[in-house]
Amino acid sequence: MEAASPEDVAAAIRFAGSHGIEVGVRLTGHGIINHLENVLLVHTGRLDELTVHPDEAWVRVGAGVRWDRVLQEAAVFGLAPLAGSSPDVGIVGYLTGGGIGPVARTYGVAADRIRAIEVVTGDGEFRRVTPTEHPDLFWALRGGKGALGIVTAVEFDLVHLVEIYGGAVYFDGADAEKVLDTWAEWCPSLIEEGTTSIAILRLPDVPFVPWQLAGRMSVAVRFAWIGDPADGQRVFAPMLAAAPPVLAMVGPMPYTELRRIHADPSDPLPVHEHAALLDELNDDVLDALLAAAGPDADDCRQLMVEIRQLGGAVAMAQEHASALCHRDAEYSYLSIGIPAGPDAEATIRNAEDIGRLIEPWTTGGTLPNFAASDDPHDVVRTYDRETLERLADLIETYDPDSVLRAARPIREALLLSVPED
Ligand SMILES: Cc1cc2nc3c(=O)[nH]c(=O)nc-3n(C[C@H](O)[C@H](O)[C@H](O)COP(=O)(O)OP(=O)(O)OC[C@H]3O[C@@H](n4cnc5c(N)ncnc54)[C@H](O)[C@@H]3O)c2cc1C
Repeated sequence: MEAASPEDVAAAIRFAGSHGIEVGVRLTGHGIINHLENVLLVHTGRLDELTVHPDEAWVRVGAGVRWDRVLQEAAVFGLAPLAGSSPDVGIVGYLTGGGIGPVARTYGVAADRIRAIEVVTGDGEFRRVTPTEHPDLFWALRGGKGALGIVTAVEFDLVHLVEIYGGAVYFDGADAEKVLDTWAEWCPSLIEEGTTSIAILRLPDVPFVPWQLAGRMSVAVRFAWIGDPADGQRVFAPMLAAAPPVLAMVGPMPYTELRRIHADPSDPLPVHEHAALLDELNDDVLDALLAAAGPDADDCRQLMVEIRQLGGAVAMAQEHASALCHRDAEYSYLSIGIPAGPDAEATIRNAEDIGRLIEPWTTGGTLPNFAASDDPHDVVRTYDRETLERLADLIETYDPDSVLRAARPIREALLLSVPED
């Protein structure tokens, strides 16, 4: 059903509760939960309010708003939101999963800037949640995705930012080893004004992919620098010199053009993702990655195998604790494939095989925005035991009749996870 007000959301939750079905939520479908049998799906697209408060540098948005609108409307006042790599993603879905975007090492986790969340919890009650009103929910909704309720609006701080130095440089797949080695050596020296990631790409030969990258393997190094562009250029120079670029699109750019850095596709795709966290990028893990996804890996079926450097402000202590775990990891790993057609299963198996190859160097954790939040095994990796127990306790309180679809994997994950001593 289409919700146009918090009352509509509350009515949907109560209806589901009284008919013995569950409630799910969707805006874009970018992070859609599978298995929606007997689920009343609430679409939040009509909750589309947006007010920028320029004097105090914050914004209030309805749950139907995507990042691109805030990027544009905040820029009028020289302000900016901490959006993710794709401005086409929904704000609430992103923020409830923490939110680690292309300038994260400078400004930290987006959810740390939340001032207030309005939510209809699983018991059908509308609540305004702040650090002082329902602080337990304020903790849980930042990292806990939709497990405690359906968010109807959120208020969060903006940063003063108009222009950055950034973009991406693309190399031929044949240079993958050189580029990966240079990036791994360069990352530890990067100060927190810089945020970077690397992606091994196998992009299809379709019209929206630049011809230099279409139908071949390439390696993208993404970069965003907050501060003097001349410094950014100097800092990024070793990466530009790693090998002859096939396409270099790095320079001063308006922050509103953030999407250029990762160049993600705009529309939701039926993807299979495999995510992990790494504490270091040593020669062994790089060799494993190259063997599985490098130029000689003819069986690699992933569109993208990506590593983002974390650290910097991502690991910074928060003013208000949240349910987001594992923010102290050094790198995040993500593979994306499209399991379609007769070879669909092979694409999934290939992602799992690469995941197993790099497993010795992973932390065992993952981040909520990159994990399958409907798979209890992934949920176990997303939260430490203490967080999982606390989330499950809050679910008992705020969703006593088990109405929220998103709460179910947390309950199941608790049974799978091993209690700590
Ligand atoms: C191209 C792309 C780039 C991305 N880049 C980044 C990135 O840089 N950093 C990062 O951290 N993440 C990133 N993500 C992950 C993204 O933040 C999550 O997939 C997010 O959940 C998408 O939210 P959505 O509303 O667009 O999707 P939807 O499919 O509409 O929602 C996904 C989930 O979000 C939750 N949710 C959505 N709306 C509500 C609501 N109103 N109340 C409660 N819960 C809700 C629910 O759990 C829901 O199942 C990216 C995803 C894509 C597809």
